[in-house]
Amino acid sequence: MSIQLTGVSKAFGKFQAIESLSLSIQSGEFVAILGPSGCGKTTLLRMLAGFEQPTTGEIAMNGTVVAKPGFSLPPEKRRIGMVFQAFALWPHMNVAEHVRFPIRHHKETPARVRANEQERIAGVLQMVGLSQHGTRMPHELSGGQKQRVAIARAIAAEPSLLLMDEPLSSLDAMLRMEMRREIQAIHRQTGTAIVYVTHDQGEALAMADRIVVMKDGRIEQIGTPQDIYLRPQTEFVARFVSKANLVRGRWERNHFTPIGGDGTVRWNGERVADYFKEAGMYPVRPDQFQLGAPGRARGLRGEVRNVQFQGKEFHYHVHCADGLLEISSPLQFQLNDEVSMTLAGGEED
Ligand code: ATP
Repeated sequence: MSIQLTGVSKAFGKFQAIESLSLSIQSGEFVAILGPSGCGKTTLLRMLAGFEQPTTGEIAMNGTVVAKPGFSLPPEKRRIGMVFQAFALWPHMNVAEHVRFPIRHHKETPARVRANEQERIAGVLQMVGLSQHGTRMPHELSGGQKQRVAIARAIAAEPSLLLMDEPLSSLDAMLRMEMRREIQAIHRQTGTAIVYVTHDQGEALAMADRIVVMKDGRIEQIGTPQDIYLRPQTEFVARFVSKANLVRGRWERNHFTPIGGDGTVRWNGERVADYFKEAGMYPVRPDQFQLGAPGRARGLRGEVRNVQFQGKEFHYHVHCADGLLEISSPLQFQLNDEVSMTLAGGEED
């Protein structure tokens, strides 16, 4: 199902939760809505589901308007499946019954699916790895299994759009990683469009075809995970998604001299967005810096102020003329060491 939002706003009283948002989602696309708490992610999802009506603008699905001020196609007529953070399973139904319910009761279930109910239940349980657990009750399931039931229930009636709102946030770290892979596999197998709300940039980067970064009810940037991570267009995206340092300095065309550089330090910034050039900044991710001993290497000078061992690398706070920088490096330095910082990946002039 393709989706088109045009100039969509949503106000609660005087408060604008969503402001004039336009977005197109292709059929079968996996789109992550990424942003901090309160930026309007859930409100956007609830409008797609049909639980909230836009104050202005319109939403079309497959070219048909489903919502505009004063009109909203009810949720049960939208061929959507939903998965929320709280699994919201029904305590009196076993696993297979959770899957059967939407097949029987969703108004938009395709006749073919309804006619082959048993087959569909078995197929969906297999897809989420619960074939052996059809007769278990919710209280007999682990957290990860409960979330799989919630996903199975959401995809049972073959929705054209799957809406997921922070579906992994109540699971532990290991299980979250495993469920990411499973959600990717389900997306591949079903081919359904997914709109996935999260405040976790790792989740969005790992799974989505495209990421919509939101702040204060507006879109900050839309792009592929690589685009968003490697070429942030705003300060907010650079910080929130790439955890970038915003090094201050002077731009001359595509060349940047950071504050505290001794005249030999110049960074190439052809790929840096114009916004940063106008603002006199260069966004540098922690892993983009190369740390070295100050003696030979030219580069920005600084002093190590904090060290954290992180397994495959160290995470440093380095104090330089412009303040504290966050830097990750496989090389070990000690507290108070003098270091020199150059840019990795041929960005150094
Ligand atoms: P979180 O990650 O914390 O769930 P979110 O990005 O999903 O945040 P929303 O739940 O969409 O944010 O809320 C956006 C803003 O709209 C918030 O400031 C919230 O307080 C406000 N809001 C949401 N629903 C209502 C409502 N029914 N009435 C009034 N204000 C609301």
